[in-house]
Amino acid sequence: MENDPFCSFVDLVNFDQKMFKTRSSLQDLKKQIDTLHSQLATLNHNIEQKKQQLLSTKKEVDLIELQMKELDQLEKDKKLKLESVNNEKEYSSLKKEIERIKQSQHKLEPDLVIRWNKLNFEQEDYDAKKVEYLHKIEDLENQMSQVNTQIKQLDDEIVQYESERKTKEVGIPEEWLTKYNIMHTKVTNPVVTVEKNSCTACFHHLTNQDMMDLKLKKFIQCKSCYRLLYLETMKEQHCGKTT
Ligand SMILES: [Zn+2]
Repeated sequence: MENDPFCSFVDLVNFDQKMFKTRSSLQDLKKQIDTLHSQLATLNHNIEQKKQQLLSTKKEVDLIELQMKELDQLEKDKKLKLESVNNEKEYSSLKKEIERIKQSQHKLEPDLVIRWNKLNFEQEDYDAKKVEYLHKIEDLENQMSQVNTQIKQLDDEIVQYESERKTKEVGIPEEWLTKYNIMHTKVTNPVVTVEKNSCTACFHHLTNQDMMDLKLKKFIQCKSCYRLLYLETMKEQHCGKTT
C-alpha cells in the first residue's frame, strides 16, 4: 500500500524523525569532541606549568651555584696572595677578607640545600606527572578518534537521508506537506498520534466529532498545539506495521 497518501505521509514523518534523532546524536557527539578538546588543553596547560616551575627552580639553583663558585675562586685568589705578602697589616687584612668570603659561603649554603631539595621534589613530581600525562593524552586521543568515527558515520547517514528525502514527498497531498513544513519550523515532532482521545504532544482532549473526523480524513490539526494528528490504528489498518 505504498501509494496510499496517508501511508506515504506517515512514512515521511517517521523518516524525518529518524533524521532528527540522527542530527541530535550528531550534535551530542560534537559536544563530546569539544569537551575532549578542552580536557586536552587543560592537560597541556598543567604539564607546561610544571615544566616552567621546574625550569625556574633550576635557574635559581644555577644562580646560587654560580655565586658559590665565584666565592670559591675569590677565596683561592686571596689565599694565593697570602703566600706572597710581606707585612703584617696586609696579611691581617687579607685574612679578614677570606673570613668574610667564608661567611658569605656559609650564608648561601642553607639556601642552596633548600633549592636542591625543591628541585629534586619538583623533578620527581614532573617525571611522575609526565607519565600520567602521556597515558591520559593517549586515552583522550583514542576517545577522540572513536567519536570522530561515529561523527563520520552519522554525517554519511545524513547525506543519505537528504538524498532520499525528496522521493519521500511523492504522492503526498500538497495541503498536508504545507501544514507539515510550517509546523516543522516550530516543533521537532509536527505529527503525532492520538491516544486515549488526546493529542500525545500537548494532551489536548479531542471531541467525539474530532474522533469521527480523524477516521474520515485520516489527519486533523490539534486545536491546542496545531500539530497534525492521526490514529495509530488507522496506520496499522492501511499501511501495515512497516516501521
Ligand atoms: Zn496538541
